[in-house]
Amino acid sequence: MPETRLPRRAVFLDRDGTICEEMGYVNHINRFRIFPYAAEAIRRLNRAEIPVIVVTNQSGIARNIFPESLVHEVHQKMIAELAAGGARIDAIYFCPHKSEDACECRKPHPGLLERAAREHALDLTASWVVGDRYADLEMGHAAGTRGILVMTGYGRGEYEYYRSTWPRQPDALAENLTDAVRNILKRGGGALRRDE
Ligand SMILES: [Mg+2]
Ligand SMILES: [Zn+2]
Repeated sequence: MPETRLPRRAVFLDRDGTICEEMGYVNHINRFRIFPYAAEAIRRLNRAEIPVIVVTNQSGIARNIFPESLVHEVHQKMIAELAAGGARIDAIYFCPHKSEDACECRKPHPGLLERAAREHALDLTASWVVGDRYADLEMGHAAGTRGILVMTGYGRGEYEYYRSTWPRQPDALAENLTDAVRNILKRGGGALRRDE
C-alpha cells in the first residue's frame, strides 16, 4: 500500500480556567497561576504524540487593559513552567479583539481553529477542544471538533446555571484538565488515526 499522510488529530486547550487559574484579566505577569497538574496532563498528550494547541481570547489588548507584549510574556512563562514539568505546547493562538470588533477569531468563532488546522495539517473532526466556557465548545462544534467542559474556572457555574440554554451539550464533562486528558486518551486511536 502506498504511504498516505493523514491529517493528525489535535487537542485544543483554552488557557484561563483550564491550564491556569481564571483570574479575570491577567493584566500582570504576577496574576498568571498555572494549575499544579497542568504539566503532567499535557505531558500525557505529548507522549501520545497528539499536538497540543492553546487557543485563547485576550480582549484586554483591544480594551487597552494590557499591552500585547504582556500576552507574549505570560505565554513564555507558561511554556517555561510546563517545560519544567516535562510538557510541551505545540502552538499558541490568541485573539486580541473585543466582541464589538466582529472579528473571525474571537471564540466562539472558529477562526483560530481553522487557521491552526491549515498551519499544522490537523483533522478537526478527529480533534477535541477542552475549556471552561461554553464559548470554547461552541467554537469547537462550529469547526467540527468535539468538546469537553472542565469544572475548573467558570466551568461549574456555566454548567449548573446555563446548560439548559445550550443548543448542543458538551460531548463530555471533566473535573479538570487531568480528567479531560484521561477521557480523550481512553477513547484510543493513534496520533495518525481517526478514533471512530
Ligand atoms: Mg477559560
Ligand atoms: Zn479576533
